Amino acid sequence: METIPNLGLGTWENTDPEACANSVQFALELGYRHIDTAQAYDNEPYVGEGIARADVDRDEFLLATKVHDEFSGLGYDRFYEAAGNRLDALGVDALDLLYVHWPIGRYEADETLPKLDRAVDDGITTHAGVSNFTIELLDEAIETLETPLFAHQAECHPYLQQEHLIEHAQEHDYYFVAYSPLARGDVLKDDVLTDIADKHDASAAQVSLAWLMGKENVVVIPKATGEAHIRDNWDARDLELDDEDVERIEAIEREERYVERDNAPW
Ligand code: NAP
Repeated sequence: METIPNLGLGTWENTDPEACANSVQFALELGYRHIDTAQAYDNEPYVGEGIARADVDRDEFLLATKVHDEFSGLGYDRFYEAAGNRLDALGVDALDLLYVHWPIGRYEADETLPKLDRAVDDGITTHAGVSNFTIELLDEAIETLETPLFAHQAECHPYLQQEHLIEHAQEHDYYFVAYSPLARGDVLKDDVLTDIADKHDASAAQVSLAWLMGKENVVVIPKATGEAHIRDNWDARDLELDDEDVERIEAIEREERYVERDNAPW
């Protein structure tokens, strides 16, 4: 798969085995063609169960996961083996996209990225991605990787609009995957977003997602557990915002992060 479906299902904190498998199965059968998980989410087997149950062929959707350096299992010193373990955990033959989850711990471009290249060469994953990188780290990664950088995943929503990272993705021709695109649920309480939502007979979640999907090279991966939220987010693809809506959303930027890590690179 050479393109990323621009609306995927996030699964962080969806750790109840049955709920997680149901979310993934429901999303795939509704039409989602992009599923995002990670070694660190402790749910890859449940995501795999949802994939196995869904009446959708494996080659019809993009499956992305990530290798981390800090949690259970192998870290960046054994990145290649950790990548292979993702296949067992998910119960699949190959990944479509594998990310370096955070440039922290033992991450070193010269050490870690050749192992990601090897995972691509050996067919563990089709595409290579990185997550939570700065512009400097992205430039270094692009220079170091032999395989083209396919995606950068970073936090992005109306309160953290990431203009420079998105421009970098557009200039260098890779995808920008916006995580926490609902500001972890906070956009639902936002006066500006609910006002725009009322105008279009939509939800505030849909407004945030439609605004992000309207940008070139930008992909969203909202996490949703139950059928109502999964469906609500899916329907954001039909919402068209006007210039005034976009200007109002741009004005609520406040550079606020909802996801932090010790030793984060910013
Ligand atoms: P998010 O998608 O911004 O927000 C998720 C929250 O919004 C959940 O509480 C969810 O509730 C709720 N929600 C979802 N759709 C809704 C709707 N239509 N109406 C009302 N509420 C709704 O937060 P996130 O989980 O932080 O980010 C999304 C995904 O990005 C993650 O799941 C993960 O896959 C990825 N991510 C990656 C990183 C990284 O370091 N690379 C970091 C964070 C996140 P329910 O669960 O009850 O539906």
